[in-house]
Amino acid sequence: MPITRERSQAQFQRALKSIPGGVNSPARAFGGVGGEPLFIQRGDGAYLWDLDGNKLIDFVGSWGPHILGHRHPAVLAAIEDALTRGTSFGAPTESESELAELVIATVPSMQKVRMVSSGTEATMSAIRVARGFTGRDKIIKFAGCYHGHVDSLLVKAGSGALTLGVPSSPGVPAGCTADTISLEFNDANELADTFAKQGEKIAAVILEPVVGNMGVVLPQPGFLEACRELCTKHGTVLIFDEVMTGFRVAFGGAQALFKITPDMTTLGKIIGGGMPVGAYGGRADIMAKVSPAGPVYQAGTLSGNPLAMACGIATLRTLRETNPYASLAAKTERLCRGLSDAAAAVGIAHTLPHVGSMFTLFFNPDLVTNNTIAGRSDTKRFARYFWGLIEHGVYLPCSQFEANFVSAAHSDADIDATIAAARNVLQSLPK
Ligand SMILES: *Cc1c(COP(=O)(O)O)cnc(C)c1O
Repeated sequence: MPITRERSQAQFQRALKSIPGGVNSPARAFGGVGGEPLFIQRGDGAYLWDLDGNKLIDFVGSWGPHILGHRHPAVLAAIEDALTRGTSFGAPTESESELAELVIATVPSMQKVRMVSSGTEATMSAIRVARGFTGRDKIIKFAGCYHGHVDSLLVKAGSGALTLGVPSSPGVPAGCTADTISLEFNDANELADTFAKQGEKIAAVILEPVVGNMGVVLPQPGFLEACRELCTKHGTVLIFDEVMTGFRVAFGGAQALFKITPDMTTLGKIIGGGMPVGAYGGRADIMAKVSPAGPVYQAGTLSGNPLAMACGIATLRTLRETNPYASLAAKTERLCRGLSDAAAAVGIAHTLPHVGSMFTLFFNPDLVTNNTIAGRSDTKRFARYFWGLIEHGVYLPCSQFEANFVSAAHSDADIDATIAAARNVLQSLPK
């Protein structure tokens, strides 16, 4: 019997009247799977409850932040404690240094760090600082990598390799993306060619070292090394956008896992533990350009907000003390093997890239290494799989091209229940 969604449906109709598309961020709108979003009433541990009282095993984790699960006691206690002192002062507080020190100790390539309020702000600021530092304008990004809704980064590659940036959204003037070069992820030759032609003009290369935003796509051996080498050779700032991978694929992020040292790093999601926090940082000589230490302007009324800092500090401290990474990877590995076996048992072509506690089941026979291959996935089949799992009490990101997250709160029983649900759903899908 289908689950009831009446209250969610009513609230969505209400939201549509006052909010564009009924949501405050498009990824929530279920556009990739059709239908209407569930409205969430509350979360606890590995579970969500929607307004109609349906309990769901959550593999979205607020799109990344909740590596400890919802309402972790240490995180709640830290927020409650901070709340007794007030919500915002617009003046320095001790908690900002504490979170900065935790970040620097965990991600040593970040010798200095500036707190902001979102991942978008972090990447926007990092690009500005890289341009200010190098005195150059051009930036390289990779198709399918998402760096927030920064004007100059809202570009995907055209079909030609070296096309100048074409904005992927109305409202972004061509001038904003004229200096953005979009290349294919994992293509070190194309990157080398681009540097050979215009290396002295390129301020920064920005990438997700493990991509999460076209679904999970791993760097092929040598690709990150090539990025590092070419940037060093040409005096270009290498920016790892670890908004998703930071504190996720390893405590020290993808740069710790793959042992590549970027010049700058952007963080978000887990660093705020569910509160709006982003951060950017890197080499001390580069960060010395940031105002008021240097001339590159960047500011924020609520940057370093004490409630948000408390939530981030408690999250990072808990991760440091409990070190859940081996257990997260083991749970994820077991889940992925279960899902893959279930798909294989009914002859459904798929690949299942995963790293740490991030994974994506691609309905795609080929290993997804870039945006072009990702685009060949069977999104209709994904939509059926997604809704089937909702009926079985499992909540996945509502798009084929997103990362799924396992949290420390997921139990072995949750993993087993998810595999069993997926087996049921996959069996029932049309071939
Ligand atoms: C989520 C994300 C962003 C944007 O962060 P927001 O907080 O949504 O602005 C940037 N880069 C990556 C890699 C992300 O996953």
